[in-house]
Amino acid sequence: MIKTEIIRVNPEAPDGEALAQAAAILRQGGLVAFPTETVYGLGAVIYNRTSVQKIFTVKGRPGDNPLIVHIYREEQLHELARETSATALILARRFWPGPLTMILPKKEGIPAEVSAGLPTVAVRWPSHPVARELLRQTDRPVAAPSANLSGRPSPTRGSHVIADLDGKVEMIIDAGPTGVGVESTVLDLTSARPRILRPGGVTREMLEAVLGEGSVDAPEQVKTDRPLAPGMKYRHYAPQAPIHFMAGAPASIHRFLQGRIEEARQAGKKIGILAYDEDRSAVPSLPEVEFLSLGRRTNPAEGAERLFHLLRLCDQVGVEEIYAVAPPRTGVGEAVYNRLFKAAGGKVEEIK
Ligand code: AMP
Ligand code: MG
Repeated sequence: MIKTEIIRVNPEAPDGEALAQAAAILRQGGLVAFPTETVYGLGAVIYNRTSVQKIFTVKGRPGDNPLIVHIYREEQLHELARETSATALILARRFWPGPLTMILPKKEGIPAEVSAGLPTVAVRWPSHPVARELLRQTDRPVAAPSANLSGRPSPTRGSHVIADLDGKVEMIIDAGPTGVGVESTVLDLTSARPRILRPGGVTREMLEAVLGEGSVDAPEQVKTDRPLAPGMKYRHYAPQAPIHFMAGAPASIHRFLQGRIEEARQAGKKIGILAYDEDRSAVPSLPEVEFLSLGRRTNPAEGAERLFHLLRLCDQVGVEEIYAVAPPRTGVGEAVYNRLFKAAGGKVEEIK
């Protein structure tokens, strides 16, 4: 155990002095958890090899899962990437700062720990005002995976980070809820065509609006056993209770849920139902049933913002089983679908 300093920072007007202290910790080799617009990150300066290794030990992260490097201005891209294609620059100018991570050929001198030995590097310029100010003051590229224990739902509130990392890192910066709520889009620019390895806040539609329709590959992750981003092969985002991930027409799902609710009632067991506001009327209010709302089905951004918070809530209220409705796979709904699919152990149940 170490003493973790927890500071609260206003996301709209970040306190420069508090962040100067955080930047000093990073430069001296400490670990700092900080908010970004996607999820909280656990940062270390990339050139401090032992600090980067510490990220893996603290999180319990497998050593073959590379980290995303965070920057605060475009020029830093050239410090990290051996080559930056015209496509990379176009995307950087359109989507940075923002929730897009680009995989590029790695420059020599970037420690192997950062990229888990791969010849590529993942780079992102986050837009969260606290992240931007912290990175500016640190003035070094900062490697940061999500600030949770490996396998747990990613942290989207300061309290999630404190629950997972208090006593394990030098500092936690709490600036409230993160916003987008799911991790960045990971886009591979080292293959012939741009390829989405992980869907996120910058959607395929948004990328194709810039690069041309049909120009971005988004491999069907549901049907492949081969991991895309190295991180995708591990169990992820999972609360303690098993998740049943259900696809199908709302009417069929509602009928199916009636059966599960009745079973839970008879067994006196608590279940969680992760669904949309539109589904609420189909779920009776009973002590055995915890209805967890992903917001409106018509606005997938609401579900993205709440998803990880609701998964953590499932643990807190002690549900024994979770039934999650598949989100519409449009816009950021694709990212929510992907995380729930992973949280359910890579299975989706077709409800007829
Ligand atoms: P997180 O640990 O939540 O920050 O997620 C980082 C994601 O980016 C993981 O899925 C990693 O596998 C992926 N990633 C990082 N660096 C690379 C890289 N060089 N090539 C492919 N995927 C990467
Ligand atoms: Mg993660």
